[in-house]
Amino acid sequence: MTLRYQHFITPEGSMEFPKVVRGEGVYIWDSTGRRLLDGSSGAISVNVGHAHPRVLEAMRDQMSRIVYAHSMRWDNDPNERLAARLERMSDWGYGAAFFVSGGSEANEAAIKFARQVAVARGQSSRYKIISRIPSYHGATTALLGITGDPDYAAAYKPMFVDMPKVDAPLTYRRPNGESEQDVVDRCVRQLEETILREGPETVLAFMIEPVGGVSTGALVSPDSYSTRIRQICDRHGVMLIYDEIMSGAGRTGKFLAGHHWPDCRPDIVTLAKGVSGSYAPLGVVLASTDMVQDVRRAGGFKHGHTYSANPVSCAASDMVLRVVEEDGLMERATRLGALIRSRLEALKQKTGVIGDIRGLGLHMAVEIVADRVTKEPFPGHIKAGERIGMICREHGLLLFSRRTAGGSFGEWLMLCPPLTIKEAEIEEMLESFEAGIRAFENEVAQEPVLRATA
Ligand code: PLP
Repeated sequence: MTLRYQHFITPEGSMEFPKVVRGEGVYIWDSTGRRLLDGSSGAISVNVGHAHPRVLEAMRDQMSRIVYAHSMRWDNDPNERLAARLERMSDWGYGAAFFVSGGSEANEAAIKFARQVAVARGQSSRYKIISRIPSYHGATTALLGITGDPDYAAAYKPMFVDMPKVDAPLTYRRPNGESEQDVVDRCVRQLEETILREGPETVLAFMIEPVGGVSTGALVSPDSYSTRIRQICDRHGVMLIYDEIMSGAGRTGKFLAGHHWPDCRPDIVTLAKGVSGSYAPLGVVLASTDMVQDVRRAGGFKHGHTYSANPVSCAASDMVLRVVEEDGLMERATRLGALIRSRLEALKQKTGVIGDIRGLGLHMAVEIVADRVTKEPFPGHIKAGERIGMICREHGLLLFSRRTAGGSFGEWLMLCPPLTIKEAEIEEMLESFEAGIRAFENEVAQEPVLRATA
């Protein structure tokens, strides 16, 4: 028996899982022969769709040469090509790319790298990583102390160091009649107060998702936010780390989500998921040249894994990013994201349960509410997002849903199809989504008790 994740496991044992058999483009097929549209790109990661012939060919080619050689002893061509491509596409003068096997490993490597820089610079009192709530940065024990989701971390609490948290600039639910500007003012003030309270000499970095992933439902911070957090970090010698595991690699319409705010350049950026299109496990840490030089002078980065800079993963990623560039998929994400948004806005007028539509490019989320005026969510036991996702699945559409921190911040569904999706497939996706929303509305209308607070 395979141990299942979270709600799919019951006290009696695992529920039977559908079995996936095949994928092509935006579709995947299960073992009954049923075709489903992959509206959340797997884990918001299959950026160029399934079974892309150019990526498969690049992987086959690399596999026929060599699949493995330890990165502490060998460089390899795909690893060098990919590092050069990432340096050019990220366009912020990052001096090195460090390759690992996924998002959590990338963030873990990023905080250890930041710490090694501080030690090399004679600032060994700096070790705290401030992050935001809500947020998700990964599953390792160190990252549980940084991830802003108390529910997710609760069982492991004695095992990790809980790092300081500040509010994420949530602009949909604003307390006490705040304006958007008030939200920014409060959040940046909190950041500076937290640094001062903790002691600036102890604070190593501020880690954020510049465009939120599943934890916030594609939160896009107001424009002035990034400039101001950069200024605060600079004032106190704190590094800024962008976790672009989900939002990076072109999904938002620019290569880095941070490129939407060009006057705020982070010191470190992490990528995973879409960077290899999920064709092979890969995570990336991009770091500023001056930091890389300091770590080199101090004897090199004391970190690594058996599969760091794996040649097949690097070859897959290099071709995925080539396809993103050569097929204009970032421009496509911007154009098709605007199309989806306008169609969702129209749907919002026809239903009562869509509270907010947010995101950038093909990185979008729809927040579900019981009451659009008060923004009241549905009672927790209904798991409205999950229920809508299940109905959409019956209509042939796969979507990710999330209730971060047990729903304290609301709940949402992610609409993040592969960047290769065609217009006709978008129509199909939106038809299934509308059918899911309408069926859910009918269910709750027939059972008014479902609207009562649990
Ligand atoms: N950071 C963000 C923003 C994520 O969305 C995720 C995964 O969803 C991670 C980190 C962790 O990545 P992984 O699941 O590859 O370890």
